Amino acid sequence: MASIPFSSLCLTRLPVPPGIGSPSSHRFSFTTFPIGFGNESPATKRIRSSVCRAASLAFRDLDADDFRHPLDKQNTMILRAIPGLSELGKVLLGTVTEQVMLLENIGTSILVSENQLSELHQVMIEAAKVLNVEAPDLYVRQNPVPNAYTLAISGKKPFVVVHTGLVELLTRKELQAVLAHELGHLKCDHGVWLTFANILTLGAYTVPGLGGFLAQNLEEQLFRWLRAAELTCDRAALLVAQDSKVVISVLMKLAGGCPSIADQLNVDAFLEQARSYDKASSSPIGWYIRNAQTRQLSHPLPVLRAREIDDWSKSQEYKNLLKRGTKISFVETA
Ligand SMILES: [Zn+2]
Repeated sequence: MASIPFSSLCLTRLPVPPGIGSPSSHRFSFTTFPIGFGNESPATKRIRSSVCRAASLAFRDLDADDFRHPLDKQNTMILRAIPGLSELGKVLLGTVTEQVMLLENIGTSILVSENQLSELHQVMIEAAKVLNVEAPDLYVRQNPVPNAYTLAISGKKPFVVVHTGLVELLTRKELQAVLAHELGHLKCDHGVWLTFANILTLGAYTVPGLGGFLAQNLEEQLFRWLRAAELTCDRAALLVAQDSKVVISVLMKLAGGCPSIADQLNVDAFLEQARSYDKASSSPIGWYIRNAQTRQLSHPLPVLRAREIDDWSKSQEYKNLLKRGTKISFVETA
């Protein structure tokens, strides 16, 4: 938990979109979450379609290296040292890929704007403002798998996509933390690196003989980098949420949450679980299993991410960043 008091993000619920193709057990009301909604009655909340955050800290001179995880720094340097990686990516990431992705999003998702899911739009604008980054386009896609992703193709406006499964699982504050995580990828140019590395990995498989070996090595290196990049972006999420419990709650829900039990989940117990994982994996056999469990993963284990962000929230580095923050108020829209 951060030691500096923060204002609470006070969001009323968005209208839940019609559940086309999603199981009825996934229907969920955000008003059941025990998040600080003030003393308004549920009826008042429904009437006031507003984003009400009295004040927060924004980081106007924030640079990606201010919050980049040391492992991310280290692994980014390794990727940068691979000859031709950037050039290859730039050649292959042409306008065709860009056009395909754009048409795919426009054709199959909902583009969030001032006039479309405006509350969600405001949540994104706020997060971008706090992180001192330009807000990308945001799309909501019909998909029960809780997920969010981002793509940045150089020269064009990047975009973030969130699945409806995630919208239903998270509170607005948690959803904003996810958007902030995605903004972290953009701020750190992760999207570009990830795409470059993916392309090279695919290309390496076509080299006879050595191809598989090269690809496997590169893939491991890529995943190592990506796991580190995820830790950086969890920090971006914390910089926006300004409450480590919000970020940890997201990780907990991604590990085993579903709408019907979401209001019973306990962040502190999940953190305790993370500590027990560390203990259980500290023996030689435990270490081997832990290594095997994580080596091929694109994302670090949720428990490890939770412990990592909890540690960072108590660090001097984070506290110093908070001191650089400027109080800003977001406009309330009634
Ligand atoms: Zn990520």
